[in-house]
Parts: sequence; C-alpha cells; structure tokens
Amino acid sequence: MKRITCPKCEHTFSFDESRYSQVKSISFACPACRKHFSLTLDEIEEMNREEIDAPYGYITVIENQFCYRQTFALKEGDNVIGRHSPGSVADISIQSGDMSMDRRHCIINVKPHPAGTRYTLRDNPSLTGTFLRNEILNDRERANIKHEDVVTIGATTFIVYLPEAEEDEYLTE
Ligand SMILES: [Zn+2]
Repeated sequence: MKRITCPKCEHTFSFDESRYSQVKSISFACPACRKHFSLTLDEIEEMNREEIDAPYGYITVIENQFCYRQTFALKEGDNVIGRHSPGSVADISIQSGDMSMDRRHCIINVKPHPAGTRYTLRDNPSLTGTFLRNEILNDRERANIKHEDVVTIGATTFIVYLPEAEEDEYLTE
C-alpha cells in the first residue's frame, strides 16, 4: 500500500499500487474534496519516500486531542512550521484543530556544515511562543537543537529526529 496526499486539500489516503505496475500515470479522485488528479508511479514513490528517507532528519507530531500523529521531513534552509489551513504557506503544515498554534509558528533552520549539519530553532514570532525542552525561547533567540529534542507550539508537541548521532556533541553547548 502507498500513501497518497491530495494536492488540493492534503487529505491522505492509502492506495494499492501493486496492480498498476505497467501504467505511466494513475488517476485519482480525492475522497475528501473530490478533486481529480493524476500521479505517475515515480511520483507516488517520491510521495512515500519523503518520510522514510529524510537526509536532514524529520519531526514527528505527537497525537493529541486536536490531531493524529504526523511526520514531516526537514529540508535544507528554513522549515516554517505551523497549523495547516487552506492556502497554508508553511513548509511543514500540521493538520490540527489546535488554534493556539499559529499558521507560521516557529522555524527550524537546517544548515549543512563540514563539521556536522547545524539545526537551530526560533520562534516566528508566534502568539503563544515556542518551547524547547519546556523552556520558552526568547525573542530572536536561535537555539541549537539536537536529536530527540521536544518542541511545544501551542498545545502541540513534536519530537525532532536528526540523522546522525555524532552531530549531537557538536550541537550541544
Ligand atoms: Zn482533496
């Protein structure tokens, strides 16, 4: 089974690709918004690879009363994180009913470096602030983050998973 995400409403559903090995592209109708779209098998592979093969690590949003568990790959540069909404402009938009999470709440910056990729977290700024390991970030603060750090934005918590454990020492102050 593969996971398919609707390009219009970002609803996610599963799909059995095994019967379609010979075709170039497959047409879908989103079960949520009914938009029609087509994807090639390569695009479907890409869509499903993102969460597994994340060279710069990923974040996992913990399930709570507002949302289910969600995982997002980090990319090089700024990763703006916030609550998903129609026309969302965040790089990582979390599907959640948590209204205390801004649509652009915080930013994780990924900066490749020969001595180890640097990961920093800053508030966007947001209305309710960004907490790293239960400590609120100051205005303009850029905090180093390490593997398995816990970040809280509004009532939502996510955990940061970084690709190489060796980087922890470099990142820890
Ligand atoms: Zn849709």
